[in-house]
Amino acid sequence: MTDFPWQARVLTLFPDMFPGPLGVSLAGRALENNIWALAARDIRNFATDKHRSVDDTPAGGGPGMVMRADIVAAAIDEAAAELPDVPLVYLTPRGATLTQSRVQDFAKGAGMILLCGRFEGLDERVIEARNVEEISIGDYVLAGGEVAAMVLLEAIIRLLPGVMGSGQSGLEESFETGLLEYPHYTRPREFEGIGIPEVLTSGDHGKVSAWRQAMAEQVTKERRPDLWAAHIGRKSDGDDN
Ligand code: SAM
Repeated sequence: MTDFPWQARVLTLFPDMFPGPLGVSLAGRALENNIWALAARDIRNFATDKHRSVDDTPAGGGPGMVMRADIVAAAIDEAAAELPDVPLVYLTPRGATLTQSRVQDFAKGAGMILLCGRFEGLDERVIEARNVEEISIGDYVLAGGEVAAMVLLEAIIRLLPGVMGSGQSGLEESFETGLLEYPHYTRPREFEGIGIPEVLTSGDHGKVSAWRQAMAEQVTKERRPDLWAAHIGRKSDGDDN
């Protein structure tokens, strides 16, 4: 475990949305235990006019409003001065789709500045000028970046040292091995006439492990041909080396 909590700085027009769901359960306990720390900053505090406006009409016309580069840059600069060496991420549907491997990278760092858009999004110039990494949580459009920031934070926080109960939990989960996870069963031994696969109650750990691997492969092949192709590609690369 590091000496300092993993730092999350969220730049948002709705700071009251935080910690929200991150204040309960696993992430909430980790917050209480100082494993991670959160500060949500109101972008409106960086507005310069008496109406505290942060957006303006799009250049070239069209619907909606765009968040101003100068106001967002001022918010970023304050956060970056406090946390100079952490990634700066803008949650946007135009970004690279979030993956578990990127989440693992972020969890290894010291923290992150997360920028939440509203309206039509940010003026492109601030994204370029501040070298912002753009991340999407999926191919759909939310009303704002706050829930997306929470998704990213929750995925990171559960990987921080000391957050999950057992060192093992997490290692076999979906995507960690490049495959989707095998199915789970627990008591009762029979549910509505359906039993638990016999191998799981055999007590033979080797067989259990082989069954789980086979099931993970089967379910990945059926549900996510893209992941399966990548898995096969990695395996044949490994065989060639
Ligand atoms: N005009 C934008 C577009 O078509 O790409 C959508 C803007 S959306 C209404 C407002 C904000 O929600 C975005 O600036 C972004 O911060 C956030 N957002 C929406 N969908 C998202 C997604 N799939 N992943 C991450 N952030 C998202």
